[in-house]
Amino acid sequence: MINGLLVDTQYCTGCYTCEIACRNEKEIPAGQWGIKLNQVGPFCVSEEEDKFIWNYTPMVTELCDLCADRVAAGQKPACVHHCLADALEYGPLSELVAKMEAKGERAYLMIP
Ligand code: SF4
Ligand code: SF4
Repeated sequence: MINGLLVDTQYCTGCYTCEIACRNEKEIPAGQWGIKLNQVGPFCVSEEEDKFIWNYTPMVTELCDLCADRVAAGQKPACVHHCLADALEYGPLSELVAKMEAKGERAYLMIP
């Protein structure tokens, strides 16, 4: 069974907690990441009201092992556990693909 992470960008607030949780859980070398938050934007959505939006897109790297030790112990991956916005979900690809399709363009899968 192949597992992965599902990201729902509608809920991601760009808080960086997933990066920190991963770094606390794993021995990630300085200057590298297990999961890296990317910021896209800002895009101006209203010049009159001076409104801008940012899109946040977390992405796992080759250093991510999907928290194999935590999962084996019955826990969620550290990044998923600590994401207060509930923007990350761990599980088998077969389930995550169905959820991603239901969410539409706002969601994507990550498989390290
Ligand atoms: S995925 Fe969750 S923890 Fe990571 S930046 Fe987005 S809201 Fe924060
Ligand atoms: S699943 Fe574990 S190793 Fe992978 S990014 Fe999340 S915290 Fe880091």
